[in-house]
Amino acid sequence: MSMIRKVLEPIGDLWSLVVGLRITGRNFTRPQVTVHYPREQVPTDLTDSYRGPIALVPHPRDATKSKCTACMICVGACPSQCITVVKAPAPVITPEQEKTFQEAEARGEEVERPVAPREPVIWINDFSLCSLCGMCVEACPPRCLTFSHELNAVGTSRDAFLHNLLIPYPGSLKPTPEQVQKLQER
Ligand code: SF4
Ligand code: SF4
Repeated sequence: MSMIRKVLEPIGDLWSLVVGLRITGRNFTRPQVTVHYPREQVPTDLTDSYRGPIALVPHPRDATKSKCTACMICVGACPSQCITVVKAPAPVITPEQEKTFQEAEARGEEVERPVAPREPVIWINDFSLCSLCGMCVEACPPRCLTFSHELNAVGTSRDAFLHNLLIPYPGSLKPTPEQVQKLQER
């Protein structure tokens, strides 16, 4: 190594150190942009644009129900196959009711048989598989899916990530242990 190189190399190293310290010093005096989670939480006005786990939008005329019509389009649209929707069953027609309907039909009357309500009884998102891609939100015809602003979607088991989106709505069914097991085996 030549003498000139031996002198210039430490000067170059020292200059890099000065540049680094100047950047550190400048940022040290700037306002803090991070929070000390979990002792501090992000202000809610900052979470409005945050994409949390998907959620169902309440019905505009009846907030105790969701807008979901159990059409199953989101189930097919999800690339991660992490949505499970079970439609509400059709009401059971008793033999007496059936007889009444048949008699009315025989008289030529128009009979309106009870049909299954267009709503889900189970709506599960397996958040351990969800990539938050938004395909389900885009595909839903009545626009009843959205991203929540939930920041604390944490858990200690896979069960904790089987989000039941109907929980805020009365009349929803809890998945059976068999359904939970089936969801976990996928
Ligand atoms: S956000 Fe994407 S991965 Fe998650 S449930 Fe919807 S479609 Fe599936
Ligand atoms: S969330 Fe939307 S796409 Fe999915 S079943 Fe309900 S109405 Fe259909």
